[in-house]
Amino acid sequence: MPLVQQRRNTTQKRVILQSVEELGCHPTAIQIYSAVRQVLPRTSLSTVYRNLGILVDQEQIKAVKGAGSEIHYDHNTGAHNHIECTVCGRVCDVHANPLEIDTLDPETVSNFIVLEVHMNILGICPECAEQLEKEKLQ
Ligand SMILES: [Zn+2]
Ligand SMILES: [Zn+2]
Repeated sequence: MPLVQQRRNTTQKRVILQSVEELGCHPTAIQIYSAVRQVLPRTSLSTVYRNLGILVDQEQIKAVKGAGSEIHYDHNTGAHNHIECTVCGRVCDVHANPLEIDTLDPETVSNFIVLEVHMNILGICPECAEQLEKEKLQ
């Protein structure tokens, strides 16, 4: 690969990683794509997808599946749970885990060896709740 091409790839990857962090609250590839395009207008959507795949493989970010088909990207790679808005699909962090691995009885988990506990909580985000409230008053 020519050096110029290599440099461009490194820059794209850095900007993509930066966008995931700065957008916060688990952006989708499309949201990351439009943020990256503001810095590097020539970046294609397939480049964004490819780099997100690489960053996930390198464990610099995590891919989070919500209830919908869209994949969200998380810069917080530590173990934590998520809550998803059933109205707009936004995914946010839950800073609590009521289901600690140590407290799980083997029988309650069909005698499996538990490796990790992930919870997906569904809810309505503050923005959507406010919007719904407004609509109710009209
Ligand atoms: Zn919402
Ligand atoms: Zn998260």
